Amino acid sequence: MALTLNETRKTKPDSAPLHAEIIAIGSELLTPNRTDTNSLWLTQQLNSLGITLRQKTIVGDDEQCLEDTLRDALKRTRVILSTGGLGPTEDDITRKVYARVLRRPLVFHPEILDRIRHLFESRGMKMSPNNERQALVPQDAEILPNPNGTAPGILIRNQDQVIAILPGPPREMQPMFTNYVRPVLEPLSGGLRLRQRILRVSGMGESAVDNLIAPVYQRYTNPATTILFNKTDIEVHLTATAPTEAEADRLIDEVAVQVEEKLGENLFAHQGETLEQVVALKLTVKGYTIATAESCTGGLIAARLTDIPGSSKYFLQGAVTYSNEAKTQVLGVPADLIATHGAVSPEVAESMARGIKERSGATIGVGVTGIAGPDGGTTEKPVGLVYIGIADDVGTTHRKLILPGDRERIRWLTSQAALDLVRRRYLL
Ligand code: ATP
Repeated sequence: MALTLNETRKTKPDSAPLHAEIIAIGSELLTPNRTDTNSLWLTQQLNSLGITLRQKTIVGDDEQCLEDTLRDALKRTRVILSTGGLGPTEDDITRKVYARVLRRPLVFHPEILDRIRHLFESRGMKMSPNNERQALVPQDAEILPNPNGTAPGILIRNQDQVIAILPGPPREMQPMFTNYVRPVLEPLSGGLRLRQRILRVSGMGESAVDNLIAPVYQRYTNPATTILFNKTDIEVHLTATAPTEAEADRLIDEVAVQVEEKLGENLFAHQGETLEQVVALKLTVKGYTIATAESCTGGLIAARLTDIPGSSKYFLQGAVTYSNEAKTQVLGVPADLIATHGAVSPEVAESMARGIKERSGATIGVGVTGIAGPDGGTTEKPVGLVYIGIADDVGTTHRKLILPGDRERIRWLTSQAALDLVRRRYLL
């Protein structure tokens, strides 16, 4: 039998560390079409306040499920954040379930309905009677204004527990949390602040990174160090808690400096930046320009380099030259070079790099040719074989790679390797 709120809360020590739970409500979140991104954003916010997430749950529009989830959460957690299900329709169950479980009857607030009516009128629409539901708020709750939508949020303080009921759409939920919930949580978090820094490493595996830096981080418990593999890179996460953000940053600095020294030029990001961000910044600072000629990556390197605002400062031109003819016509790769060595060869990669450099006038030319698969591989030239050519005013060089994985992974790894080659060769 479920315990009532008051019965369960007696068992919870007052001095318990501050944990939170998130309940994301909405049947659409249980389909393959929608992802619960609200909880990721909220987790980041909670962590920055030094509050750890204990559990998160996604429940569909099902009253019993939500009721069970909420009763469980109330037994163990001081901060409960829920998002979604505040709309005007019958399947928007959040208000009534919270009211029932917390034993606070729903009270009608005419001022909320007036505001919703005005909102509709200002858009030349007539409010539906259903919207009256959105003016119901559990007794003794705070109403959280929602300038970006119809449903107001609800904040309930239940002795030492804080329960925030927020709308589902992120553009409504996020400002509401920042403006009205965060200030309530700040004093509860014991004044501790959590900061995290992400260092990113290329060209090394997880265990090699660990071997290198373990003698440093093992001497510290704050910050805590975690080593993670992320798509192509290794990330070192340093997480510190302290009374102020500045103090937490100082604790991280102390370890980061030593870890960075150990990692040397394999470390490409000191603050979680992507490789293209790092390359873009350094090209800009050095006043270098770049142009790309891509075959197997189909423009991915150019896309990554131009994802960054201000890319016209350093990116001059990108050519996707898939066929042999295109390599010859667009880049001037000699047809007999392709005939002699094959399109996937160091000679052609270098010639592509030289061709795009000369045609664009860039400081650096990059040429990429390879076999992304799944077809097209031979014993001599297997799927995953890639050549990256680099050309500058001094000369031309190339790098041979044999990459693992499927087509998507080979293409991504190739783009990462090309950017990293440019970084190491010109931008250290
Ligand atoms: P509304 O008044 O707009 O109906 P609501 O609080 O009832 O607000 P829902 O109807 O549950 O919110 O969700 C509306 C939309 O908000 C969803 O279709 C989805 O796009 C987005 N949304 C809901 N929950 C989440 C979530 N956890 N993460 C990301 N997006 C979400």
